[in-house]
Amino acid sequence: MKYFTLQELSDSDTAVRMNIDNEPDKDAVENMRRLIDIVLDPARELFGKPIKVNSGYRSSMLNEIIGGAKHSYHLCGRAADITTGSISANRRLFAILRKLPHKELIWEKGGIWIHVAL
Ligand SMILES: [Zn+2]
Repeated sequence: MKYFTLQELSDSDTAVRMNIDNEPDKDAVENMRRLIDIVLDPARELFGKPIKVNSGYRSSMLNEIIGGAKHSYHLCGRAADITTGSISANRRLFAILRKLPHKELIWEKGGIWIHVAL
């Protein structure tokens, strides 16, 4: 792991605000590490600028509260919602991600963020 941390993949303002446990278990941590090493870090390297994680790991309670999909990859630490801060730069990031390994790659809400899962 070079650019991204496990911490930023499990940090959640909503969890803090609502006092929800969002501590990943061992398997989730392993998945988050893979996501960083195989997808997020290489994407960041190719993109050349910081990428923000809006949402990474979600405990089932957190996922339910924010209305996430029931069998979302976020639940097992395999997904991240990321953004560069602008739709045009997200477009460039999306093109980079298409060439990297992934199970899901979704252009969300007109490109406000990108969902990527491994
Ligand atoms: Zn997502």
